[in-house]
Amino acid sequence: MLRILLTNDDGIDAAGLAALETATRAALPNAHIFIAAPATVQSQGGHRVTTHTPLRAEPRGEDRWAIHGSPADCVRIALRALDLTPDWVFSGINEGGNMGQDLPISGTVAAVREAAYHGVRGMAFSHFIRHEIPLDWAVVTPWVADLISEQKNASLERGTFWNFNLPHLPGATNQPLPRPEIVDTQPAHSPLPVRYAALPHAEDGSLLFQYTGRYAERPADGGSDVEACFSGRISRSQISI
Ligand code: MN
Repeated sequence: MLRILLTNDDGIDAAGLAALETATRAALPNAHIFIAAPATVQSQGGHRVTTHTPLRAEPRGEDRWAIHGSPADCVRIALRALDLTPDWVFSGINEGGNMGQDLPISGTVAAVREAAYHGVRGMAFSHFIRHEIPLDWAVVTPWVADLISEQKNASLERGTFWNFNLPHLPGATNQPLPRPEIVDTQPAHSPLPVRYAALPHAEDGSLLFQYTGRYAERPADGGSDVEACFSGRISRSQISI
């Protein structure tokens, strides 16, 4: 029986984690599923870990823990403290893409990277969001179930993991959309469109800046994850640690 650990960086109560659990149960009906996910939102925390203060694993029902730490902490606690011995770690489904320069920033990706360091296979799933299209997790849940079914037997070199990015397609909500084509990609090298707007100075004379970079305006490098996902296809990258 396969043992699967689910985690994310949007927190244990996130709708995307529920979608990942639904997809995993559909793809692997006999699997034993464990959840160890952050108690609070940990997006953009990267591969931060906690070593100087105690880590709290709060029970949230059978085989389910809210970890008061980062996504990488969740995997560490699951493997080395709760002794869950998973065959796979699945992370996501993140609300937002994790491509190119996002990879070191992402907690979603950090969780499967941490798993890969310990020799455990992993898949990260992220849903690129176009803000003009309503978000409907039911659209992508069957796609993720398909990806899990197909990838669970694919060869994955030790020290690597899969990073999937799902496109955000227009369409009626609450209706299935055919699964987009899967494209093998490399992470984009171009930087995110990093920009700031200057705000009025603080009272102590400090300068204040608000990040205004628009994710959907990042460059779509040829052959990259960004190009595939932004053009409506599913990006699959095999990432080496
Ligand atoms: Mn997130």
